[in-house]
Amino acid sequence: MSSAPPNQARAGELRQLLQRAAHAYYVLDAPEMEDSVYDRLYRELLELEAAHPELITPDSPSQRVGGAPAEGFSSVEHRIGLLSLDNAFTPSDLDAWYSRLLKVLDRTGDLAMVGELKIDGNALALSYEQGLLVQAATRGDGERGEQITGNVRTIASVPLRLQLENPPAWVEVRGEALIPDETFAAINAERAARGETLFANPRNACAGTLRQLDPKVVAARRLDFFAYTLHLPKDTPQGPSSQWQSLQWLQAAGFKVNPNAELLPNLAAVQAFFSAWDTGRRALPYATDGVVVKLNDLRLQDAAGFTQKAPRWAIALKYAAEEAPSILLRLACQVGRTGVVTPVAEFEPVPLAGTTVSRATLHNADRLAELDLHAGDTIVVRKAGEIIPEVVRVLSELRPAGAVRLELPQVCPECGSELVREQGEAATHCVNSSCPAILRGALRHWVSKGALDVDGLGAKLIEQLVDRGLVGSIADLYGLDAALLASLERMGTKSADNLVAALAASKQQAWHRQLYGLGIHHVGEVNAKALAKAFPSAADLATATASTPESITAVFGIGGEIAQSLQQWFATPANQLLLRALEQLGFPLAAGPEEPGAISETSLTGQTFVLTGSLPTMSRSAAQALIEAAGGKVSGSVSKKTSFVVAGEEAGSKLSKAESLGVAVLDEAGLLELLKAGSG
Ligand code: NAD
Repeated sequence: MSSAPPNQARAGELRQLLQRAAHAYYVLDAPEMEDSVYDRLYRELLELEAAHPELITPDSPSQRVGGAPAEGFSSVEHRIGLLSLDNAFTPSDLDAWYSRLLKVLDRTGDLAMVGELKIDGNALALSYEQGLLVQAATRGDGERGEQITGNVRTIASVPLRLQLENPPAWVEVRGEALIPDETFAAINAERAARGETLFANPRNACAGTLRQLDPKVVAARRLDFFAYTLHLPKDTPQGPSSQWQSLQWLQAAGFKVNPNAELLPNLAAVQAFFSAWDTGRRALPYATDGVVVKLNDLRLQDAAGFTQKAPRWAIALKYAAEEAPSILLRLACQVGRTGVVTPVAEFEPVPLAGTTVSRATLHNADRLAELDLHAGDTIVVRKAGEIIPEVVRVLSELRPAGAVRLELPQVCPECGSELVREQGEAATHCVNSSCPAILRGALRHWVSKGALDVDGLGAKLIEQLVDRGLVGSIADLYGLDAALLASLERMGTKSADNLVAALAASKQQAWHRQLYGLGIHHVGEVNAKALAKAFPSAADLATATASTPESITAVFGIGGEIAQSLQQWFATPANQLLLRALEQLGFPLAAGPEEPGAISETSLTGQTFVLTGSLPTMSRSAAQALIEAAGGKVSGSVSKKTSFVVAGEEAGSKLSKAESLGVAVLDEAGLLELLKAGSG
């Protein structure tokens, strides 16, 4: 076991891990981790080294560019070094870079910049002599790259001769070789058909292609090239004096320049360019992972100079990643309303896909065991699109010495009763029906929007009611009096009165909502509606589950699993008691005359409504219930087929769309009138 101080040990481990990843990435073209994970670990190393400069070693990834040239090609020295770019991930990183630049240049005010897309390909250095392409090389370690001239000659967008009448003695051009998405997909499809390993992304496919020993293979892969940097001999007459002019020069000489570059007058314009391309890039036929911002004036670029491995006058702004590393702090457990225990990882907060996350699901005991998590582990967390964050990997190389393995507890963290895991099931359960966590979950579900839709009874209040023993079942909610509620934290007389009224009103909610609210396993909103239509009361449904289960599975969309779950639910004595208590409280537990299934066609049948803004006296879900009860449909978006838009206060784009399409618009009073007429 190492006895190095924690910072030194961490720096050493990070270096080792990053070196291995960089080798896999640059030399083998087979990355071992997501770029964003690499970036964040790299940043951690930079921060450690900045705070403790004595930790910097000559072989640290912070001291070098890219990877060593691969074997198989001769290596060549670049006439002018090819550096990396510093990265910014947040607006404040960008501000900090800009302030540093102003300071270095001893300037105030706006600096003009050029915004370019950061194309996710491979940098190439092209050398022209007397206008002829004489050498093409990869970036390699920045000083030496691989000589791949034969391969680069196959790229149609690389001119073999410059289109200039009097070309300078030499010209150095840098740019990005890339593989468009469509070609990338085709290459991987071919590899899959041949049983070969797939390229992780277009950038790796491009790097692998550039290093093919047979130029015919390269030619078949149809690479593309965008030029972005120009170096000319110092004495070139009328040479460009800005990056913008360089791009124009390159274009005139016959290069393809990315058409999306823009001259940006100030930092606000840079921000706007970056934001616009966050969505804009999705429509491009090639991959980009950010934008590159470069100081426009070449004399100022010279004055700003370089750091160890990157120019001070340029920065890469990267888009939000979907994966990032963090440090695992502890394991928490969530007990859901059905008693399922979900292990949850709690870790140091990290920004991910536009939000900050500090908790991620571990799904179940099997997943937890598979990940082999230890406290203090460096974990990789993913949040893609709308999906809830999850832990996807552990970087066990970075595990602190003596770290303790994390396991699911044996007993319920809420009520202390022993947890149960049935054979063949992934889920672990708390089976104590009076477990406070299960009760809280059941109450939250009962009052939720799709169920009884009770306003003013949030998770915090439910927690107080359960913790203080004021509520032991759904039925107990209806015995709460306003004075008692008013005495609770963050409650007042008005909110207590409103809640009592909302609870009383909820007894009139439709039968299918009550059924859904009971929280029977597998009975979601859609199934509840289908069942409520076929069985107009709880008594009918209970009888059917016990005596004619085939009448249950005869309902469209209802299978054996649901029938069994219903049967179990109705056979459980505690649930029978609950139904009786609800009935005594005045719940009909049956369809009213105006509910779907219980009504015949009305004049609203086939009419589609869209609700927008807040209505003066009704919640939106109440309005939806009324419309549906009258045979109408409610949809989320306005189209030509929409019959009516019901607009309340602060109605937004849906109202303007309705107006532009000529769809009839109603207010709440108008809707009520229509409903009255409809039922008449
Ligand atoms: P970089 O990719 O962050 O930026 C520099 C590169 O950007 C240039 O070399 C060039 O190829 C490219 N580029 C694209 N458009 C450009 C433009 N308009 N102007 C200038 N350059 C442009 O830096 P890097 O040094 O190539 O590599 C570091 C990055 O590589 C890291 O940020 C990381 O994401 C990735 N990496 C990943 C792993 C891994 O294991 N996944 C390992 C090592 C490096």
